[in-house]
Amino acid sequence: MLRGMLVTLGLALAICGLAVGNVSEPARPVSGRGGGGSLGTHRPGELAEQIGGRALAARLARVQPDWPARRAVFRPRPIDCAELKCVALTFDDGPYRYTGRLLDMLARHEARATFFVVGRMVDAGGADDLRRMVAEGHELGNHSWDHAMLTDMRREGVEAELQRTQRLVRRVTGTDMRIMRPPYGATDRTVSRVARGYGLSQILWDVDTVDWRDRQPALVARRVGAAGPGTIVLLHDIHSTTVRAVPRVLARLDHEGYTFVTVSELLGEGVPGPGGRYPMRNEEELRRAARRS
Ligand SMILES: [Zn+2]
Repeated sequence: MLRGMLVTLGLALAICGLAVGNVSEPARPVSGRGGGGSLGTHRPGELAEQIGGRALAARLARVQPDWPARRAVFRPRPIDCAELKCVALTFDDGPYRYTGRLLDMLARHEARATFFVVGRMVDAGGADDLRRMVAEGHELGNHSWDHAMLTDMRREGVEAELQRTQRLVRRVTGTDMRIMRPPYGATDRTVSRVARGYGLSQILWDVDTVDWRDRQPALVARRVGAAGPGTIVLLHDIHSTTVRAVPRVLARLDHEGYTFVTVSELLGEGVPGPGGRYPMRNEEELRRAARRS
């Protein structure tokens, strides 16, 4: 079935003249600062296997009529988060081997989320997960190619980090990302300028679960529970403990009447323009965030 999907997608992409398969650029070494360090080939989600590739491709085409003939962008649902209790769960550094299971959990709750993806993780076998995210209404954001500390790089380096991931995601999903999250929350004037050049808003977070450090599902769930209406929550789908916390998180927030939305749905008109940053923070706060992450 999966091979069927690849053939279907391959044909579709070949028809519109796009390259298929892995990116041809050679992979660079991963930054040694943790976070996106766990690389390797991984399996797509269980549900994707059950549904089968052909059905998934059909669903993708249905929700996104332009795909893959024309580039699409994420279309937020018309949700008024001034009226509803909204929360935006965001998952960074994947996709990885637990992402499929996470997508199954979100699907059961009809919950939408935002995935800030690392290009190398997509390249290492995550393309099916990304197509499924798009098909199921989740939003994608650029989290650089190899989780680099962008503030340590020159402008050309920052450009390469964002552009490679932007291109790969476009190639495998047909969509253009409009948001990015700098790894470690580390940004400066150069990063902002490059992000603006690619039409990307910079999205940080309101609630940090510190799930990369504290690998305890109950603790992670409790921290998400501290989220108030209108907040963006930082999580990482490369940790099994985080994914194991998600059913508790969804049940609790569901019970409290929350609607699970994507970042663009949450911010609505409040999405900062390209290069702009949400939330606005001063340099000292950003340095603290970078130290924590
Ligand atoms: Zn990250």
